[in-house]
Amino acid sequence: MILDGKVALVTGSTSGIGLAIARAFAAEGAKLMINGFGDAGEIERLADELGAVHDGADMTDPSAIEAMMARCADELGAPDILVNNAGIQHVSPVESFPTEKWDAILAVNLSAVFHTTRAALPAMRDKGWGRVVNTASAHSLVASPNKSAYVAAKHGVAGFTKTVALEAAKDGVTVNCISPGYVWTNLVENQIPDTMKARGLTREQVMNDVLLAAQPTKQFVTPEQVAALALFLCRDDASSITGANISMDGGWTAA
Ligand code: NAD
Repeated sequence: MILDGKVALVTGSTSGIGLAIARAFAAEGAKLMINGFGDAGEIERLADELGAVHDGADMTDPSAIEAMMARCADELGAPDILVNNAGIQHVSPVESFPTEKWDAILAVNLSAVFHTTRAALPAMRDKGWGRVVNTASAHSLVASPNKSAYVAAKHGVAGFTKTVALEAAKDGVTVNCISPGYVWTNLVENQIPDTMKARGLTREQVMNDVLLAAQPTKQFVTPEQVAALALFLCRDDASSITGANISMDGGWTAA
């Protein structure tokens, strides 16, 4: 298996894209630490399913992140693979954007990536092998109105990714980001009935004209597709891919 003997830490892996990445890594033999919020019983079931250790560190809290990184090193070994995936969103015009939402989005979506990466890098360098994969977004490349914090944070992730890739280039450590467009998650699916009702649209109209307006394929990206790319980036074949921002957005940023 591709990840036999590797330790992988995936932040925000109790649902959506992060969970798909954790599943793909577990299926390839990785020893996993998962992270994220949710129902305690459901998280326990997921940890069992994946043979993973769960750490509930809040990605807004640098000291909790430091403790999670130390716990991973103690219980599983220092991570060979770090996936920075935890993310949150808030939609509002900039003048009325709540400052606490701005701070939280910057903390989870950007600063946490710094805190985990700086903790993980020394052991990767010592081993001469490491992979950092950051879940950015099409919003690391283009903007949409009313998403100032998210767009700023994701552009920050893209810049941070390039910088650390250059710093680690000679050490066998690659650092990349994946930039999905609209990804099919429960969160998205659950919005459809309300939008149908509110706007008097059919399910197809909501999907194509509202949710997928920016996505030329008119298809959602799936979490499993993002996971397959994350897994590819962890292969030895991918050792020359570093500092890249790889779009998986159905053509959104080509338009
Ligand atoms: P999701 O809400 O299903 O998953 C987010 C995960 O992050 C969950 O496990 C949640 O518990 C965790 N999380 C949230 N706040 C946290 C905190 N403070 N500390 C620790 N964990 C926290 O969302 P998703 O769609 O799977 O998003 C995952 C990543 O993909 C995010 O970075 C998001 O910005 C990015 N992304 C999503 C889409 C999309 O359309 N869904 C598109 C592009 C990029």
